[in-house]
Amino acid sequence: MRQLIAAVLLACGGLVVGARASGGAGEPAPTRGTLEAALETISADEIKADIFFLASDELGGRDTVSPGQRVAARFIRSRLERLGIAPGAPTGYFYEYPLVSPRLREADTWLRLRAGETELECVFAGDYWFSPGTPRDLQLEGDVIFGGECDKRAIGKLDVAGKWVLALDEGKLFGDVETDLLERGALGLLLTPAEKYSKKPYAERFDGQVASMRRGDVSWPRTDASGNVKPQLPVLYVSRATLGRAWSKAAGKDSELPKPGPETVLRATHRRAYLGDGGRVMAENVCGWIPGSDPKLKDEVILISAHYDHVGTSTRDGQIYNGADDNGSGTTGLLALAEALVTRAPLRRSVMLLWVSGEEKGLWGSQAWTQNPWLPDNAKPLCNLNIDMIGRNAPDKLLITPTSKRAEYNGLVRLAEQMAPLEGFPELGSCDAYWGRSDHANFAKNLKIPVAFLFSDVHEDYHKPTDDPDKIDYDKIRRVARTVLRMVDGLQADKLDL
Ligand SMILES: [Zn+2]
Repeated sequence: MRQLIAAVLLACGGLVVGARASGGAGEPAPTRGTLEAALETISADEIKADIFFLASDELGGRDTVSPGQRVAARFIRSRLERLGIAPGAPTGYFYEYPLVSPRLREADTWLRLRAGETELECVFAGDYWFSPGTPRDLQLEGDVIFGGECDKRAIGKLDVAGKWVLALDEGKLFGDVETDLLERGALGLLLTPAEKYSKKPYAERFDGQVASMRRGDVSWPRTDASGNVKPQLPVLYVSRATLGRAWSKAAGKDSELPKPGPETVLRATHRRAYLGDGGRVMAENVCGWIPGSDPKLKDEVILISAHYDHVGTSTRDGQIYNGADDNGSGTTGLLALAEALVTRAPLRRSVMLLWVSGEEKGLWGSQAWTQNPWLPDNAKPLCNLNIDMIGRNAPDKLLITPTSKRAEYNGLVRLAEQMAPLEGFPELGSCDAYWGRSDHANFAKNLKIPVAFLFSDVHEDYHKPTDDPDKIDYDKIRRVARTVLRMVDGLQADKLDL
């Protein structure tokens, strides 16, 4: 069913492109379906129009996740629909992946410490703190026992199941205690500074994390090898003054903390609530599928990627990082390639076009896709060609990784070396130093396929608010897109040496 839709859509797209190609002046248009005709569809002016939109202030720097990034995704999707390129994800053009966005509902987040009949209401980020971690709505109520110093040996003797454990925080790492308490069914850990506590006061220590939770900054979910979210023990950091108030009520006098032991010293209720879906938020990669025509080779898929996100708007001074080169250039180069491939169709092997998000956050979009790839039917990834920052520096400067100096050097790179000189890049330089810095790294690592990364180097506006569309060399993007098209063409041979 999917492929049938694809064929119909492609036919419609072909008509549109064909009609325009034949409208040119003078010369007869090259025959549709040829490489020449496809190369001609790639236009610097059209790329320029696209970058001026994607890198406009109104898109706010396309941070993952933000309204501007979501608008960019919909712009790309709309273009794919217009071109008649089929959806490349299970439920449409968007391959969605989960991120966490721990935006607290502070009115529904509390800690209550009860001593006898009196209850002390503690204020988040005033009396107690916690780290964003993996957000989860929760409400936990139980007795509190005192474990003394926060070490596994001391706490190991106590029956902690269904209880809170209060312990003294010396500022040391205590991951082993957390794991142990989680395994033994404790509700959570309440920490309060020990006499010899050596770190910054809690208010200062958690300042950045509290601000991050109030903004709802996104992060990659902490998952185990099979992608399940790792359970985490709730850890609350309670100020000594707050705990002292609660304990003095429990003891009926101004008292030091009790001796460690199995007795209940307090009762604690903690509730946490997050905005949205329990602190989960979905981000999208935009995927377009161009099915191959050869009965056998169509199952081999050429993956071509470019990230469309950037770093957003500064929370400090409101400056917008437009990311015209990073990676408006690759995003629009891939859009131009999409149009050219529709003209070149049918190809023998299939092509998946992937505009990924979250690259600037840590290659998240490509990580999600490569950890759980989606391709129709029996299709298998063949190779990945990634383009990121291809619109600046000298017109003939284009870099590639992996070069022959790396073990990952492959036939795809050799193909690039062969095609680039035809488009005004006489020699490809090395960006082996950037091997781990863009999405191809995930395709190589997680799918173990040959990859090639085309890149025209950093510059003085790299990751600055001044990476603007007026500084882009549009003809250069055009020529890189043409190089990629020539490579896709070169990948249609019967036998490939990748
Ligand atoms: Zn970047």
